[in-house]
Amino acid sequence: MATNDRTADAELMREIINRLRASSDVLVTSHKRPDGDAIGSGLALVRWLNGAGVSARFFLEDGVPANYRFIRAGREVLTEAPRDLSDTTLVVLDTTEVSRVVKDTGILAGPREVINIDHHPDNRMFGDVNLVDPSASAAALLVQEIVETDGFELDLETASLLFVGLVADTGGFRHSNVDARTMAAASRLVAAGADPHGLARNVFAEQPLSQVRLLGMMLSSMELHLDGRLALSVITEAMRTEAGTCSESMEGLPGYGRLVEGVKVSALIREIPNGARVSLRSNGGADVREIAARLGGGGHHAAAGVVLDVAVPEARRLILDAVSDYFEARD
Ligand code: AMP
Ligand code: MN
Ligand code: MN
Repeated sequence: MATNDRTADAELMREIINRLRASSDVLVTSHKRPDGDAIGSGLALVRWLNGAGVSARFFLEDGVPANYRFIRAGREVLTEAPRDLSDTTLVVLDTTEVSRVVKDTGILAGPREVINIDHHPDNRMFGDVNLVDPSASAAALLVQEIVETDGFELDLETASLLFVGLVADTGGFRHSNVDARTMAAASRLVAAGADPHGLARNVFAEQPLSQVRLLGMMLSSMELHLDGRLALSVITEAMRTEAGTCSESMEGLPGYGRLVEGVKVSALIREIPNGARVSLRSNGGADVREIAARLGGGGHHAAAGVVLDVAVPEARRLILDAVSDYFEARD
């Protein structure tokens, strides 16, 4: 089980530093469809390691999505894993289980050791070392604390990467996972040169017009259910075609239902090939991880998801039932 014991975590951080500094080769990786936390925390960890003279690379099966191309260091991300990991330390960031890193988990077989650094409460503890702290608002926060523990002096580039992770996973410091620890860490990043306004715009704004049009269509699709407690929105392939976007980006979109007064759960159903991807958000009052878990998914208290191999109308029914059951169990 993940603990919230900060003293134990401080010891784990030291152990991670020692193991990584002693490694001849490090491969850092994170989950498919990477978000700002996956990308920012991974690239920051690699920068710290390279600065410490440790050979380290970053592997993301899906590469860096278009909306994160503003991060120049992202160009060096590997989209194919090295074949032989027998002398390699594998660091998995922001990921509950290795099957969320790659489709074919055989690709990552046989590393010398595995270091698991995450903040998901449902992390499967698959590492030789597991630093899993669900109270951390982002994996980037844990990476920041690790490199700071090592005495690393944050440079502009590393501070900016870590800030991207923090700002993305906290929805611009507005989600229920924001606390003093998060704000203090962000303050240290800004002191090191990270530009809060510019980076927040890079993550949440600066989108192609087609993506903003898609947002408009998604908002038009929004319906309230279950006495106004559930806001349900849909994005179909037809909507994407009409909006003219081929972007996979959904950063921020699932949360819009929370704008509506009285809404406890915001659900966005996205049509994908052979199924539907569902994103759930709460404003802290409801545990959407539990709702996603009922359908085979997972995530955090206030942000969770699941992929269903059914068409959108059936996905809609499944979500309605799952959220309804969740509320009924509490009424
Ligand atoms: P998303 O809605 O895709 O941005 O995901 C929100 C959160 O839910 C992320 O932190 C993911 O870890 C988690 N999540 C999303 N999809 C899944 C899934 N299929 N299985 C488990 N967890 C998921
Ligand atoms: Mn993530
Ligand atoms: Mn994260």
